[in-house]
Amino acid sequence: MNDDLSTGVGQAAAIIAASRHVVALVGAGMSAESGIPTFRGKEGIWTKHGEPDLRDYDRFREDPKRWWEQRMNPSPAMSELVSALAEAVPNEGHFALKEMEDRGFLQAIITQNIDNMHQIAGSTRIIEIHGNRTKLRCTGCSNRWPLDEFPIAELPPSCPDCGGIVKGDTVMFGEPIPPDVLEECIAQASLCDCMLLIGTSAVVYPAAQFPVDVLRGGGALIEINPEDTPLSNVSQVVIREGSGTALPVLLARLKEAGEK
Ligand code: NAD
Ligand code: ZN
Repeated sequence: MNDDLSTGVGQAAAIIAASRHVVALVGAGMSAESGIPTFRGKEGIWTKHGEPDLRDYDRFREDPKRWWEQRMNPSPAMSELVSALAEAVPNEGHFALKEMEDRGFLQAIITQNIDNMHQIAGSTRIIEIHGNRTKLRCTGCSNRWPLDEFPIAELPPSCPDCGGIVKGDTVMFGEPIPPDVLEECIAQASLCDCMLLIGTSAVVYPAAQFPVDVLRGGGALIEINPEDTPLSNVSQVVIREGSGTALPVLLARLKEAGEK
């Protein structure tokens, strides 16, 4: 193990063990080692294909039927992501976070990922700020259903409870974060005295606001990311390593400290 990793992980473990309420804020980098490409960063889809149309949600509202037809016929960049998502399995980093939760070292995960990897790995306290690709959501009452349990007989599909238009649970560009989810994130950030920033470029709002709130409340930030981010300078500990490598090492160090 390199010295920097060992030192960073040691410092991170000491802060986590002394904290009351630890929250992980997770971004696309967490799933990079599961073979799911990120948007930004060296191998990012946008870095390769250019930035997408940010009017996604407006287009959905203008013509939901057309949006559903296009969903069934994705662009090359989207197809790349969709097939990577379909084949992916959780990596060692996801499993390490699950065990940190089991042992009382991690109270919640706020993930910007839509890939369902934390659920498959067995974590239970997961807040999906950008939704989940395996679910659908009603735009009227916010009810959610697993995709494969919702029969799509017409486009756009409508909600059996309120008649509202049903869309993918994934939050689109320009779409507000569902209020139930945003409320839970704000509650978690206010409880949090240590936030782990894992594989997030920390530029997408409102998620990028939570670490700022934690800092203002006197809490600590621990960053795990092979690249620099706007939050690197204000983090107490920066671990410049992929999360699939760093998190199992961190878990091992926490285990030495015992259960919480
Ligand atoms: P991002 O794509 O903007 O940035 C990814 C970050 O991960 C970069 O800072 C990069 O340096 C870092 N990274 C790359 N490899 C890593 C590794 N092995 N370990 C740790 N970090 C690594 O991601 P973002 O900030 O989360 O924002 C983009 C949005 O795109 C997200 O909000 C998410 O909704 C969506 N997205 C989701 C997925 C997914 O579900 N897996 C994939 C791509 C994009
Ligand atoms: Zn409804």
